[in-house]
Amino acid sequence: MTGIYVHVPFCLRKCPYCSFYSKPFDADTASKYVDAVCRNIVVYSGKGINADTLYFGGGTPSLLNAEQINRIIGEARKVFSLDNAEITLEANPCSVNEEKLRGYHKAGVNRISFGIQSTDDNRLSFLGRLHDFKTAVKAVETANTIGFENISADIMLGAAGETCDSLKKTIDTLCDLPVKHISAYMLKIEEGTAFNNDKIKPLTADDDLMSELYLTAVERLDMHGFKQYEISNFCKDGYESRHNNKYWIGEDYLGFGPAAHSFFGGVRYCCPPDTDAFINAPAQPREVTEQSVNKGEEYILLGLRLCKGISLDTVKSYFGQPAAERLYSLAQEFSKHGLVNLKDDNISLTTQGFLLSNGIISQFIDIVE
Ligand code: SF4
Repeated sequence: MTGIYVHVPFCLRKCPYCSFYSKPFDADTASKYVDAVCRNIVVYSGKGINADTLYFGGGTPSLLNAEQINRIIGEARKVFSLDNAEITLEANPCSVNEEKLRGYHKAGVNRISFGIQSTDDNRLSFLGRLHDFKTAVKAVETANTIGFENISADIMLGAAGETCDSLKKTIDTLCDLPVKHISAYMLKIEEGTAFNNDKIKPLTADDDLMSELYLTAVERLDMHGFKQYEISNFCKDGYESRHNNKYWIGEDYLGFGPAAHSFFGGVRYCCPPDTDAFINAPAQPREVTEQSVNKGEEYILLGLRLCKGISLDTVKSYFGQPAAERLYSLAQEFSKHGLVNLKDDNISLTTQGFLLSNGIISQFIDIVE
């Protein structure tokens, strides 16, 4: 089934490490933006597309009020049915309160993902976040009290003097909260961000430390019952993100809003990152990024991000027997170095393999083509 993604392109302030598209929040533009999202959803009326996930990402979706979220969900229900859907909203701990969270819950949001990033206030300040950890705890506990049972938290690895010991404390503290899902991202200095300068770089983990932090995170999260299911994602049993899984297993998704990406009918396209153009266009602009997706390549590329990995039989169905055999031989080589698990027909990356995933996956793709 299809997934629906809504990109909410507003933030109160730009975090210095962030390369996602967003612009400063203003209520008037946000109101026009919501009109435009609804208008674009309606375009799909009568096309028989059913969706079972809706994801509000950003930017900061929690800058929209409950009425606006309710309106978008209402339009999406009319058009895409959303029967038994997982409806996720990314939230910034400092832009929610009890009333707002109740409103989101009443509107049908049943999964909330908080950008907590760290339990250490100094690190939060280094990352330019507007919240402190006390605010994050309050947001999570309030959400849980009013009925959000499926709560996710993002953490960032490798900021401002983080050590394996401090990370263990962060994870222990986070796991005491009523969260069911944790995404752990490695801080990367991206071009064009405020962090991309010589003063900041030495304050972030180098490659060796980052690898240690990642391995520590995987082990500590596992100790707390958060099983890894994707390179950066961990959850209690049954709490995988249904929406994000669609990206990794190659299901269709439709994106609405500036900078939203879509994969539909074998074509990848995006709406350009321009909020004014999105608001003013009768239908959202569409730039094709890949006209004809190579499904076999995608299967390897995305499937190896998942702990469950890929099946050799499926590789054979896309590329033929000789290519599958070449891939298997290469997998055996990686397996000798502890980078790949081989079990019957299944190939997956080990935790060490995830650290080198880009290189390993591109070698797998090269060898089947
Ligand atoms: S709040 Fe999130 S989307 Fe906005 S600037 Fe910070 S990291 Fe980026």
